[in-house]
Amino acid sequence: MVSDIFERTLDIFFPRRCPVCDDAVDVPGRLICADCESAFKEIKEPYCLKCGRPLKDDALTECDECTGKKQDFRRGRAVFEYDDELKESIYRFKYGGRREYADHYSACMERSLGGWIRSLNPDALIPIPLHKSRLKKRGYNQAGLLADGLGKKLGIPVRNDVLVRSGKTTVQKRLGAQERQNNLKKALKIGSDVVKLKNIVLIDDIYTTGSTINSAASCLRDAGIENVYFAVLGAANKN
Ligand SMILES: [Zn+2]
Ligand SMILES: [Zn+2]
Repeated sequence: MVSDIFERTLDIFFPRRCPVCDDAVDVPGRLICADCESAFKEIKEPYCLKCGRPLKDDALTECDECTGKKQDFRRGRAVFEYDDELKESIYRFKYGGRREYADHYSACMERSLGGWIRSLNPDALIPIPLHKSRLKKRGYNQAGLLADGLGKKLGIPVRNDVLVRSGKTTVQKRLGAQERQNNLKKALKIGSDVVKLKNIVLIDDIYTTGSTINSAASCLRDAGIENVYFAVLGAANKN
């Protein structure tokens, strides 16, 4: 209650920005303008039962990329389609210092995926880590903010110590999918004891090629975590 009032007071003096239009949100306590509320497209059925991507064809149960492929995660879900609107918003969230967007995004994740995440009975939420030098430059890890917001709302612990990024992965864009995944996997390390973790949910902002999530899932499974799921804000439509 006290923190609610405190936050509303802060909103008056430092109005937060709307994740969609980036204008100041004029009503204290609100996280997004009323007009922008339905701008991001929620993923509805049919979606890939493996990775959560939206599917165009009702007759399909998995996307092209999951069909016949052994994914390292058990299952994943996304809230929104990763279209241009969301792409621009996430760009500002990551590179434009708009860390406050995390409040709205994590609320969306809770509303849309909270029931599913609870049903998995996870021991922890694990954000995809950022390399130390990037973290220093940016000041925050966007996946970490989403995990913190979601963990708090769902009452699930967030573990930032489990997965750490050791190497730098700067030339990712020029690599093919498999190389990309190998490269990334080498950069990820297990940072602490995971004996008590059986079910975990990886948290990231987006799922596009799937190489980041798969590298992380593979790393965690090698360490003995049986069930690795993931939840993201946006997933790219690939079919
Ligand atoms: Zn707006
Ligand atoms: Zn899929």
